[in-house]
Amino acid sequence: MLQTVQIAGGGIAGLSAAVAFAKYGWQVTVYEKSPGIRPQGAGIYLWENGLKVLEALGVYEATIQDSIPAWRHQKRDQDGTVFAEDFFSKDNRLYVPTRADLLHALHREACRLGVELEFGIEVMAADPDGTIHLADGSSRKGDLVIGADGINSKVRDSLGLLKSRKLAHQFGYRAMISRSPAELETDEGRGHCEHWHGARRILYAPCTKDLAYIQLTAVKEDERGQALPVDKDYWQETFPHLSWLIDRLPEAGRGDQFEIIKLTNWQRGRVVLIGDAVNAQPPFLGQGGGCSMMSALALATWIEEATAIDPGIALWERHERRLIEWTQDVAYYYGELAFYPPQLRTAIFRFIQRSDWLKRKTIWMTALHSPKGTAQTLNHQVLQPL
Ligand SMILES: Cc1cc2nc3c(=O)[nH]c(=O)nc-3n(C[C@H](O)[C@H](O)[C@H](O)COP(=O)(O)OP(=O)(O)OC[C@H]3O[C@@H](n4cnc5c(N)ncnc54)[C@H](O)[C@@H]3O)c2cc1C
Repeated sequence: MLQTVQIAGGGIAGLSAAVAFAKYGWQVTVYEKSPGIRPQGAGIYLWENGLKVLEALGVYEATIQDSIPAWRHQKRDQDGTVFAEDFFSKDNRLYVPTRADLLHALHREACRLGVELEFGIEVMAADPDGTIHLADGSSRKGDLVIGADGINSKVRDSLGLLKSRKLAHQFGYRAMISRSPAELETDEGRGHCEHWHGARRILYAPCTKDLAYIQLTAVKEDERGQALPVDKDYWQETFPHLSWLIDRLPEAGRGDQFEIIKLTNWQRGRVVLIGDAVNAQPPFLGQGGGCSMMSALALATWIEEATAIDPGIALWERHERRLIEWTQDVAYYYGELAFYPPQLRTAIFRFIQRSDWLKRKTIWMTALHSPKGTAQTLNHQVLQPL
């Protein structure tokens, strides 16, 4: 008999899960409270682990078709001195497509597979027997419910699964800037770079031929660093050599306070949580979305392999939780380095940089992980739309 899954939330996690379950032959419904797909105007780091998931879901090409592959990632101090540097290869890729490209690729694939997407519908709660409750007062029952409703998840909170919610005391602004293709010919324009000055940081990431993704980060006490619209004079005083990009920052951009979320359990009965609802983390590793996609594909794959839902869920949590919680912790402590004296921070980064083993156990651990379900592309029979 056709198994049914109801997904709360049509973001990266919810759409990844929708595509994965549909490829395994499930009947999938996604409830998204916004009136449509909601891409934020920014780029998204997709490392090897996330790219492998996109390949398995069949949306890799569509996601990265306009993006340029990263070749080098540097960290520099306020004088422009490079204190950490990594290079990419075909086995260790990094792309930074726009969020719109990623979400639209997932959305198109979900529609092609017959996933039912209901926009403008808010999920208020879920019961362990697989029932969800919608804002209009109605309820729907399925074989499985997935809460992919983001950091303020109502599904999670209705089940009392939250263990801790901790502020990282840092603020981030993200936006896209335009850039001429000619700038990609310059060393500065081509390479990804994290520029540090004291506790402030500017991340520059080439995205497409004519767009770059910028992220500014400041600590809580730094009022001018958190101002929106961005206080360009302030950022230019701090990073005078980056005025070529600060000048181009748009008035509009998105600002976020960073948080880390931990749960007591990732599931209760027939309800499971994925994405920021369960693995929200400061964005310093660029892995929140990667973890969300890994978790979504792994869940569908563990259930498929177990050939039953309850043991599949148990196996999923047992195998997937450790790496994702580790990623959250590394991202959190990476962010904490902003509060360290700059020389000490640089020394720590240099120390990690010198040891391949240490890098693989910390900053690169998740990026180099081979996610469950990615050994081969999912090619199960595709159901026709109902
Ligand atoms: C500054 C910043 C930079 C980041 N950079 C990166 C990066 O480079 N790489 C990376 O991998 N990750 C990055 N992340 C993390 C990444 O954005 C998140 O981990 C990812 O978006 C989580 O996806 P999600 O689907 O769980 O949540 P969301 O993207 O929040 O999606 C949740 C969806 O559910 C909907 N929804 C919410 N409540 C309900 C409800 N009750 N009923 C129905 N629908 C509901 C929302 O409208 C939304 O569409 C970054 C995060 C921040 C803050």
